[in-house]
Amino acid sequence: MTHKCKVLVVGGGVMGASVAWHLTQAGAAVTLIDQGSGNVPSATAASFGWVRASASTPSDDTNAFALRLHALEEYTRLKQTLGALPVTVRGALSWGETTDETAALIAEHLAAGSRVESLSAAQVRQKEPSLAAVPDLAMWAPDDFALEPVDLARCFIQAAQANGATVLSGTVQRVLSAGGRVNGIEVQGQVIEANKVVLANAYGALALAASAGVALPIQQQPAVLLRLDADRNRVRHLLCAQDLELRPGKERGLMSALDYPLEGEAGLQRLAEQTCQSIAQLLQLPSVPRILSIEVGQRPMTSNKQPLCGPIGTVEGLFAVVAHPGVILAPLLGSLCTQAVLAA
Ligand SMILES: Cc1cc2nc3c(=O)[nH]c(=O)nc-3n(C[C@H](O)[C@H](O)[C@H](O)COP(=O)(O)OP(=O)(O)OC[C@H]3O[C@@H](n4cnc5c(N)ncnc54)[C@H](O)[C@@H]3O)c2cc1C
Repeated sequence: MTHKCKVLVVGGGVMGASVAWHLTQAGAAVTLIDQGSGNVPSATAASFGWVRASASTPSDDTNAFALRLHALEEYTRLKQTLGALPVTVRGALSWGETTDETAALIAEHLAAGSRVESLSAAQVRQKEPSLAAVPDLAMWAPDDFALEPVDLARCFIQAAQANGATVLSGTVQRVLSAGGRVNGIEVQGQVIEANKVVLANAYGALALAASAGVALPIQQQPAVLLRLDADRNRVRHLLCAQDLELRPGKERGLMSALDYPLEGEAGLQRLAEQTCQSIAQLLQLPSVPRILSIEVGQRPMTSNKQPLCGPIGTVEGLFAVVAHPGVILAPLLGSLCTQAVLAA
C-alpha cells in the first residue's frame, strides 16, 4: 500500500473530519485515516452533542467563553456551506439550585453578550409540560442546539470525499520524518507518504507526536453518556436542571451526560441507576426507565485548556488539533487548522 498525498489527517472523529473537509474545500489533496472504534468508543461516539455558549460562563474562563461564542458563529457558516446539520433538538433551558443562582447566571450571560432570556415558571411549564416541578426562574438559550456528533463527522467525511478526499482504515503507528521534515506515516508496517500530517486523533496524538520527537501537553478525561429507554417526547428541549443534563435521543429514548464517578468503573452502574431515578422524578415518569447503554468516552484535553491547533514542535509539516469541547469547536478549528496547514 503506497499512497502519495499532500495532506494526511489522522483521526476521523468530529475534529479530524472537520479538518479534512475544510482542507478539501480549500483545494488541498487529502487522505484521512482512522483506526475504527473497536471496543473503545471515540469521544465523538460517546458525546452529548450540545452546542452552546453556556457550556461555560465568562467568570469561569473569559478566553474559553469568547472562543465558544466565536465557534457558534462558525456553525452558521457551516450550515450554508455543508448543508443541513444533524440537529436533534433546538433551545436549552437551564436553572440552578436557587432562583438567585439562576438570576446571577442569566445576568452574567447577558452582560457577556449571550442571547439568553429569563423565563417564569409558567413559561417553563409551557416549554416543558412533563416537568414534575418547575423552577420560579430559568435561563432560556434559543440558539443552543444538540446534534448527533457521529452524523456530523459522517457529513464532513462524505463531503470531503465528494471533494476528492481518500478515506482509509488503519492504525497509524508513527510519524516519519527526515531532515527536520515530515515525509509520511507508518500504518501497520506499511508507509504512506505525505508532506503534511495533521494529528487529529485526540489523546492518540500524544504517542504519534512523540514518535517525531514532539511532546504534546494533552491528557484525557473520562465522561459518561447514558441512554435511557423512555418516551423521547417527554423532553422537548435541552435541559440542564441543576447538575442533570438531558435531551431526547435521535430516534428514541433520552440521553444524559454525566461526570465520571469518583469510584471509577465500579461506580458506573450505581451512578446510572441514580440518574434514572432522578430523571423519573423530574419528568413524572410512570416507572424508572431502563438503561439502554452506559458509554464512557475519553475527552481529549489540553493542559492549559486552550485548543492546540496548528504546527507542533520543530518538525516541518507536522500539525495537531486537540481541543475541548470538541463538537462546539470542530467547525472553527477545522477552518483555523486549514489556514495554518496551507500557510506553512
Ligand atoms: C460523555 C461526553 C459528553 C460530551 N458532551 C459534549 C458536548 O455536549 N459538547 C461538546 O462540544 N463536546 C462534548 N464532549 C466532548 C467531545 O465529544 C469531544 O471533544 C470530541 O468528540 C473530540 O473529537 P476528536 O475528533 O478530537 O476525538 P475522537 O472523537 O476521540 O476521535 C479521534 C479519532 O482518532 C482515531 N484514532 C486514534 N488513534 C489513532 C491512530 N493511531 N491511528 C488512526 N486513528 C486513530 C480514533 O479511532 C477516533 O475515531 C463530550 C464528550 C463525552 C465523552
